[in-house]
Amino acid sequence: MTEINSKGLHGKGRKCVITRRACFSASHQYWLPELSTTENTNSFGPCAISPGHGHNYELIVSMGGELDANGMVLNLSEVKHAIHSEITSQLNFRFLNETWPEFKLSSPEGCLPTTEALAKIIWKRLNPHLPLIAIRLYEQTSLWADYLGNTMSSFLTVQTHFAAAHRLARPELSQTENERIYGKCARPHGHGHNYLLDITVRGSINKRTGMICDLSKLQCLVDDLVVEVFDHTFLNKDISYFETCVPTAENIALHISDLLSEPIKSIGATLHKVRLQESPNNAAEIYLENTDVDATSKRINTVHYQ
Ligand SMILES: [Zn+2]
Ligand SMILES: [Zn+2]
Repeated sequence: MTEINSKGLHGKGRKCVITRRACFSASHQYWLPELSTTENTNSFGPCAISPGHGHNYELIVSMGGELDANGMVLNLSEVKHAIHSEITSQLNFRFLNETWPEFKLSSPEGCLPTTEALAKIIWKRLNPHLPLIAIRLYEQTSLWADYLGNTMSSFLTVQTHFAAAHRLARPELSQTENERIYGKCARPHGHGHNYLLDITVRGSINKRTGMICDLSKLQCLVDDLVVEVFDHTFLNKDISYFETCVPTAENIALHISDLLSEPIKSIGATLHKVRLQESPNNAAEIYLENTDVDATSKRINTVHYQ
């Protein structure tokens, strides 16, 4: 490579993934004309309230390819133009239900403008113009969708948090030995963290509701089975699982994945990943599926966060 660079080719032919961020504000309403008012309210909660509500969306477009002679995967002004003309100029300050034909609910093919449906349709619209690797769309900082081009698999992540204390020590070892392994985390009276928890589910998008699964049911599962149970506890004593298992971030994330896996299956999705951030400096990630998609999403996450 030194030889190539010395010829002034500026990395030509080497591969790279680039990302571009774009924002838009838009409103939407979850209301299916074939359902009664009661059915819409029961299915979609406050999202069914007329005339809708809005979000500040953040879009991250990941693209990949070989560098050209100018040292770029793509000319950034062309990327900006494609995202603006195909996406943001059409959605910004609009009522999403009345923008793209994919959201026209009077047609049997129309679906609700959910985050995961939007991400997939944004991919479809940008794909002829840009060498896409992934689309990530944030509806808010605690809810986002990823689409990687596989028609059967979309990803939705909900983020939540809880506060808990723990002590890292194995009961069969002496205090000195525990401090040698776990450092300050083995101090006798424990310490606490504000844990951030990301739950990522995978599934295909329902053609009518635009959803991988019922979002409020997913949020209830995470709240009822994890947050309510773990929040403001001393994990070692209050959670029976950790009476015999050291509550490292890794073990907590694994336990959460065990708690959520089957219940998430029962609402029609697959638990793909659990990410538990203990502090800004350390986090544990559990990948529950060993698929090509999994490998791709790991790569994408690396691009975004490291
Ligand atoms: Zn909304
Ligand atoms: Zn700790």
